Amino acid sequence: MSERIYNFSAGPAVLPEEVLKEAQADLFNYKGTGMSVMEMSHRSKTFDDIIVNTEKDVRTLLDIGDDYSVLFLQGGATLQFSMVPLNLMPPANKADYIVTGSWSKKAVNEGKRAGAVNIAGTTEEDNFNHLPLQDELKLDPEAAYVHYTSNNTIFGTQYLSEPEVGNVPLVCDASSDILHKKINITKYGLIYAGAQKNIGPSGVALVIIRNDLLERAPEELHTYMNYNIHVKGKSLYNTPNTFGIYIIGLVAKHLINIGGLDEMYKRNKEKAGLLYNCIDESDGYYAGSVQNKEHRSLMNVTFNLGTEELEKKIIAEANEAGFSGLKGHRSVGGLRASIYNAFPQKGVEELIDFMKKFKANN
Ligand SMILES: *Cc1c(COP(=O)(O)O)cnc(C)c1O
Repeated sequence: MSERIYNFSAGPAVLPEEVLKEAQADLFNYKGTGMSVMEMSHRSKTFDDIIVNTEKDVRTLLDIGDDYSVLFLQGGATLQFSMVPLNLMPPANKADYIVTGSWSKKAVNEGKRAGAVNIAGTTEEDNFNHLPLQDELKLDPEAAYVHYTSNNTIFGTQYLSEPEVGNVPLVCDASSDILHKKINITKYGLIYAGAQKNIGPSGVALVIIRNDLLERAPEELHTYMNYNIHVKGKSLYNTPNTFGIYIIGLVAKHLINIGGLDEMYKRNKEKAGLLYNCIDESDGYYAGSVQNKEHRSLMNVTFNLGTEELEKKIIAEANEAGFSGLKGHRSVGGLRASIYNAFPQKGVEELIDFMKKFKANN
């Protein structure tokens, strides 16, 4: 295959073509250094420029103030399920978790190893087909933090705005929608995101932490698990994922060049809107799986057809037509079109044509 296909994969996921081409051009000999980014010391001046500029551009995009630290860690979002409670739960040793899908549940499991977890809200009884409403939350004002998942990659729900949590620090797993729009950072105590959905390759997690929360980490915490060590080491306590950080830097630069996150959000809304319209105007042939339309994700569009046979058929025909990765997660079935930042609108438009034809023929 010589052409690129439309890649609806949930993650690792599509990256901007401009970024891939720039990385390709730089791969053999990065800016006259005579080596690739993968081959250079993480302590070199060249790499220092890369990580410093990557951080600077992420800070610009999200308007992150000096009272927050920005880290590029390993272990994915999954290690953050553990690092968050180990660092932030003391001294209260209890935290609130809002459970909106499989990833939230995994975060809860690790939270429980560090202290008491209060499930402040959950929609598991409805197989997570909507989000808990604000007035349904049972928040503990003494909790160390409130943890929530801003976009539920598997179920296709997304928070339009943050849950209101008063003075308790808000912790967000933003793995599948980080940098999809401008957010008000000051509402958060900590945000983490595995890079491989919206901002880069796998193997790096972006962590943004309000500095006062760093004081909570207990003395006896293992070195690598302690955010303070990584803040002091400027994400270079040990050898980081240098190539991954470099790609995040290219993605951040690309986002700045297209006009920043307001422009990105505009594009994301338009793109997802087209697909949801197609679903809603199909007289029930395609059925969106999220019950509350206000909770629909701009990143992962989940839907069903009347029978599993039809779903199998459309996925097979879609693959042949060059639309890859549309099968829903094995825990929910159906279809899922992951249309992250870098997914082109043209791909959504062509998928819609394909879906209309499939409906007419089946
Ligand atoms: C993919 C995903 C994760 C897991 O990320 P890893 O980097 O594989 O650990 C966690 N949370 C959410 C919301 C995700 O989409």
